[in-house]
Amino acid sequence: MSSFDLFYFGIRWQDIVDILLNSYFLFRFYVLFRGTIVLRGLIGIVLLWFIQRLAVFTGLILTSWATQGLMAVAALIIIVIFRNEIRGIIQTKDLKSMLWGIPQRSQTLTPVENLVEAVFEMSQKYIGGLIVLPGEKDIRQLIQNGITWQGKLSKEMIISIFWHDNPVHDGAAVIQGDRVTDVGVILPLSHRNDIPSYYGTRHRSALGLAENSDAMVIVVSEESGRIIVAKNNNITPVHRKSLLVDIIQKHLNIKSQKNDEYSIREKLKIAIAALISLLLVAGVWGSFSKGIYTLVTLDVPIEYMNRESAMVLFDTSVNSVKVHLSGSGALIKSIRPDQVSVRIDLSQAKPGKNTFPITENNISTSPGVILRKVEPDEVDVCLGSPITKKVPVQVNWTGSLDPNLLMTEVTLTPDIVQIIGPSWVVNELTTIYTEKINLDTIKNSGSLTAPLNLDSNKHIKLASGNKDSVTVNYIIHKKEEPDTLQ
Ligand code: ATP
Ligand code: MG
Repeated sequence: MSSFDLFYFGIRWQDIVDILLNSYFLFRFYVLFRGTIVLRGLIGIVLLWFIQRLAVFTGLILTSWATQGLMAVAALIIIVIFRNEIRGIIQTKDLKSMLWGIPQRSQTLTPVENLVEAVFEMSQKYIGGLIVLPGEKDIRQLIQNGITWQGKLSKEMIISIFWHDNPVHDGAAVIQGDRVTDVGVILPLSHRNDIPSYYGTRHRSALGLAENSDAMVIVVSEESGRIIVAKNNNITPVHRKSLLVDIIQKHLNIKSQKNDEYSIREKLKIAIAALISLLLVAGVWGSFSKGIYTLVTLDVPIEYMNRESAMVLFDTSVNSVKVHLSGSGALIKSIRPDQVSVRIDLSQAKPGKNTFPITENNISTSPGVILRKVEPDEVDVCLGSPITKKVPVQVNWTGSLDPNLLMTEVTLTPDIVQIIGPSWVVNELTTIYTEKINLDTIKNSGSLTAPLNLDSNKHIKLASGNKDSVTVNYIIHKKEEPDTLQ
């Protein structure tokens, strides 16, 4: 039989602290890693977690196992793959700004004029160049091998970066705000085949990045001195400085709205992130605590294993135990008594009484279910090698015979039965009685069938071939007149 006891505990102050603390950690994670690819990995883990809960809720055990395993591995993978990003964040921030501050995304304006001047001078001097102006999307996963530069942008610096003799002139330079942040960067090549044949790898790499992001890439050809701008799938040849200024400004305008509008949007984003963190953690807490506090008690019969064939199980102190289980609500609610088993190993049992503790080692349940308690926590088992013995049968008379009657003869068929049982019981036993037979009702000679009473010792059984009843024949005589007797 199963009975469900569901406990939903009220919220304690510790729970509130728990939720707030973890919401804050999650929020800090967002603040520190926003705009980086690490955040995507974290969102992936959160998604996995949702799938896992859903799988548990709907009883998809394999899916829930798989997602659980993936989540454990995913945390490791994130640390390994994003170690550079994580190190960057940890290195560039002190403890206070990691725990408290909200980093402002710099809106420093790119000195467009300087950049355009540099590009046109390179064009005139046939200095090959590749300049990346990222859009809103993070391009870090698309580019490789960059060398961190962090130099303030000037016309001279740009030209010198791409100067033939400069060791970092190969590859692209990335510009963010008023800084050249990386140089010698390798961009992904485009696989388009509708581009002019005189475009080599420099042009292809510019197109490759533009196609795969919202970045804008300026190319100065070393061979022809021609300038082109690649953005999305478009290639724009540039002949005039004013056109390049326009294109760059239009591109950068995506990011530089008026300052106050930008900061309101940023604040809103931060507030939404804080709210989502809180909701997420509260949700996680809810599903966890509900899972932990959902209990069920099942009555499970004990199974005995590995009994030596010569040994017989004569008696047990209990036949079933109460198993208290807990686990996630849905899992617990769907569990049936036959999914839980309690097994006792009798391979080490000695003849006579044995006491076995019942622990989690004896109990097997479905995955995800936790054993809380078992009652009773031990069982006495009586085992022995059975012996047989012949014992006489006696009638168990009750009541009293009519005083005028006399029972002169009683015969039992059979009058001896063979019993089987543990030696310590069988050796003590001298007689087997029948069930009670009432003398009050007996008036004449006759016969009746009396069942044998084996219940008084439940270790005892009749050996095979013995009937469980005997035939009682009795002869009744009327007594002489008392006077005559005297
Ligand atoms: P140009 O018109 O200047 O000759 P191109 O399109 O013909 O350019 P290449 O002549 O192959 O291209 O130019 C090679 C240079 O392009 C390399 O020295 C390197 O600086 C740059 N380059 C090539 N491939 C990449 C890449 N994947 N990422 C960044 N830069 C690259
Ligand atoms: Mg070339």
